[in-house]
Amino acid sequence: MEFGFSEGQKKLMAEMREFCMNEIPEDYDPEYSGRFQEAETLEFWKQFHQKGVEKGWPTAGWPKKYGGMGLSAIEQAAIASEMSYWGARWGGIMAMSLVAPTILAAGTDEQREKWVPPIARGEITAFEAFTEPDAGSDEANVQLRAVPDGDEYVLNGQKTFISGGVKPDWLYTLCKTADVTPKHRGLSIFMVPGDAPGVSYRPLPTMGGSQQNEIFYDNVGVPKENLVGELNRGFYLAMTTFEFERAAGGGLGARRSMEKIMEYARQEKLNDKPLYKDPKARDMLARMAVHQHLGFLFGWYTAWHRSQREKLGPQHYNSGTLWARLWQEFDGEHMRRVFGMYTQLKQKSKYAKYHGRPGRTWEYMHAHHAAGSPEIRRVVIADRGLGLPRIPRQFNVQINEALRQG
Ligand SMILES: Cc1cc2nc3c(=O)[nH]c(=O)nc-3n(C[C@H](O)[C@H](O)[C@H](O)COP(=O)(O)OP(=O)(O)OC[C@H]3O[C@@H](n4cnc5c(N)ncnc54)[C@H](O)[C@@H]3O)c2cc1C
Repeated sequence: MEFGFSEGQKKLMAEMREFCMNEIPEDYDPEYSGRFQEAETLEFWKQFHQKGVEKGWPTAGWPKKYGGMGLSAIEQAAIASEMSYWGARWGGIMAMSLVAPTILAAGTDEQREKWVPPIARGEITAFEAFTEPDAGSDEANVQLRAVPDGDEYVLNGQKTFISGGVKPDWLYTLCKTADVTPKHRGLSIFMVPGDAPGVSYRPLPTMGGSQQNEIFYDNVGVPKENLVGELNRGFYLAMTTFEFERAAGGGLGARRSMEKIMEYARQEKLNDKPLYKDPKARDMLARMAVHQHLGFLFGWYTAWHRSQREKLGPQHYNSGTLWARLWQEFDGEHMRRVFGMYTQLKQKSKYAKYHGRPGRTWEYMHAHHAAGSPEIRRVVIADRGLGLPRIPRQFNVQINEALRQG
């Protein structure tokens, strides 16, 4: 089998590369700044997005009618892949990569008209507000209530660990709208204005270095037409959103990071010899290169699968983004072995090795729950991807009984 890109795709990637080289400041370090979400950084990417819109790139894979270029998911991933090499991202990335594709796949025509074009233009931002203190892996256990009242639904409850930085224009919120069994059939999704009266935010910093949000809904009135898709079918919509979230393609970002660490290993000295001559460092570098290449292949496999979604149906495997998480763990562990106690130093310390990256990788490997933990992704691969049987009911009964007895 031969992998490759068409001439058109190569041209698109070359144009994207040039765009990134021209627009991104030379001193920008994607491995550090890219993961942080300060207002200033967000503003920079918003402007970057606006410039990309003139070329049609942020939404190249969407239908022309909704602000796209009508190309396939492969071209979309080709653009994303170049961007990841440079550590770039579009301003309204959450709205663009999660909310809009779900509305395009499952929303009504009116909803597509209302939300998709402004998202494509980068004019509005949205957070994916699903997780709650008692509803993470067990998404069906959402307790944030939405109760009908005249022309509105009134929302009360809490979300937690929500990504996206500062206050968004919209909260794509999963709510409980019925008390039924099974409970996943009583959930619905609403687009809630980010500044609606009764919505409040509390910052939640994580070990991984990101700034998450707790979001509180206190008697928040939302017009009924903001219900996305059908009432009580929100769980299925949330799963579609996860499909898009977990099916990230491309993966050139890791190649850049590999190039950087090789450069460092040539310059840094250990016992008067270049670091890369040390057997432990060589082992680490070789493993990192293999991990990076696997990530690259998984990324393109996923992009190809997504480009065939009409024919093959939803992507069940999540293998690429699962691998990305696992490989962070392996690399974090190897860096710890090579850099030893220096792993504990932050980037700002003058004694930190390799710009503090060993420490950051170590921290980041403890925060890999975003978009579903590795265990849950394995469950999805086993169940929906490979069609393996679920745990027999009688075992569940026995486990629950044992838990009850303490
Ligand atoms: C950096 C970051 C960004 C995030 N961004 C968002 C966001 O934008 N929007 C949003 O809605 N949420 C977001 N989340 C929340 C994330 O989706 C949840 O943390 C995740 O789904 C896990 O839920 P939990 O934290 O409640 O853990 P739990 O569900 O309580 O799980 C705890 C542990 O038990 C394991 N576990 C649970 N059930 C099973 C099972 N059946 N089989 C095997 N193992 C199991 C899990 O793997 C995990 O290790 C983010 C989280 C992080 C860390």
